[in-house]
Amino acid sequence: MLTKKGVDVSQLKPLICKILDALESMSKFRSLSELTITSTYEGKHCATSMYSHHLAFHIGLGPPPKNVYHVIRAALPLAYNVVLKADHIHIEHNPK
Ligand SMILES: [Zn+2]
Repeated sequence: MLTKKGVDVSQLKPLICKILDALESMSKFRSLSELTITSTYEGKHCATSMYSHHLAFHIGLGPPPKNVYHVIRAALPLAYNVVLKADHIHIEHNPK
């Protein structure tokens, strides 16, 4: 997994780092190696406060992203929101 230049992942909370680690190990076995973290707290945000808590990030993808979305959704506990957007996947820890 890659990180876009200028994106700071150092502030992400353990609950999110755990997910990044999981995606990283998944990417060794599935074709997820080109996943790129495109945004954490510094980027364009969706309507959620989770960025300011360092509990959200974006993964950018080349098309078509749907397979990857389903893989990630299936892999993460329900406490994590996984949202398929036009050009990225939004992931945050947001237990209801
Ligand atoms: Zn977002």
